Amino acid sequence: MSPRPDPPDVDRVAASRAAVAARRARAAVKHDVATHARTARDVLDTAWSNPESAEAGLRVRELLTSVPTLGPVRAAKIMAELGIAESKRAAGLGIRQRAELWKYLVGREGGVQPGRLVVLAGPTAVGKGTVSAYIRENYPEIQLSVSATTRPPRPGEIDGVHYYFVSDAEFDRMIASHELLEWAVVHNSYRYGTPKPPIDAALQAGKRVLLEIDLQGARNVRAELPNALLVFLLPPTWDELVRRLTGRGTEDPAEQARRLETARVELAAQDEFDYRVINTDVGAAAREVVELMAVSSNRP
Ligand code: 5GP
Repeated sequence: MSPRPDPPDVDRVAASRAAVAARRARAAVKHDVATHARTARDVLDTAWSNPESAEAGLRVRELLTSVPTLGPVRAAKIMAELGIAESKRAAGLGIRQRAELWKYLVGREGGVQPGRLVVLAGPTAVGKGTVSAYIRENYPEIQLSVSATTRPPRPGEIDGVHYYFVSDAEFDRMIASHELLEWAVVHNSYRYGTPKPPIDAALQAGKRVLLEIDLQGARNVRAELPNALLVFLLPPTWDELVRRLTGRGTEDPAEQARRLETARVELAAQDEFDYRVINTDVGAAAREVVELMAVSSNRP
C-alpha cells in the first residue's frame, strides 16, 4: 500500500491553492482600477463591506499604485501623510484611516461619483443577452436593469432576474402610471419596457447601470436622458450574425425571417451610437463595455 499523505500536507496544498486564487483575484481588482473599470473608492467600498473579499485583502499601497496617474512615489507619500503602514491591507485600516483615505480619494476623483446609464443595443442575435449575462456574473458592481415583458418565459428564465414577466393588463397599468422609462413592441409581437424607479435609485446612489434593450428603446432613452451612453454591439461579420440567428432554434422560420429583416435595419443604425463593440469573444466584449462605462463616467 502506498503511504497516504499526512493531513497537514493536504492542508498545505489546499492552502497554497487558495493563496494562488486569492492572489489572482487581487490582481484582477488591480487591473480593473488600472483600466478605469473601477474606482479606488469602489474597491474600498467592497473591501469594507465584505472582509472575505479579494478587495479586503488588497494592500493599500497596491491599490493606490494601480490608480492611473498615481506612481509608487506619490502613493508612498500619501500613505505616509495619512499614517498608513506600508503593509496595510484595505480591510485592516482603522476607522480614522478609512475616513482620511476616503476624503483623499473624493478630493482626487471628484465629490460625487456620478451614476452612469449605459445602453447596450445591437442587431438581433448579436449576443447582447449573452454579453449582459456575462456582465451580471462577473461584474456584480454593475446594476443590470430588469425589463418587463409580455412575452412568456423561455425555459430557464427566472421572473425578476431575466425579465419581469407580466400580463398585458399589468403592462398597460405600468404605462399608464409612468413606471417605464421607455417601452417598445419588439419584433412586432411582444411589449418590452424598462422600469424607471430602480434606475433612478441606482443612478442617485452613483451606480453604473446597464440597459440591454432594442434600438427603439435606445433612441427613446437618449431622448429622455441625453447623458446616457449608447453602445452598439456588432457581430464580427454579417454571415456570423445569420449563423447565430438561425442557430438559436427557438423561433420558427417565419419569426427568424422577421428577425433577420429587423437585424438588417438595425445594423444600419450603428452610426447613431457613441461606441461600437465587436462581439467576437463574449468575455472580451463584456470587458470592453465595462471599461467604456468607467471612461464614460468621466465625461461631462
Ligand atoms: P428576447 O425576447 O430575445 O429576450 O428579447 C428581444 C429583444 O427585446 C432584444 O432585442 C432585447 O434587447 C429587447 N428588449 C429587452 N428588454 C427591453 C426593454 O426593456 N425595452 C426595449 N425597448 N427592448 C427590450
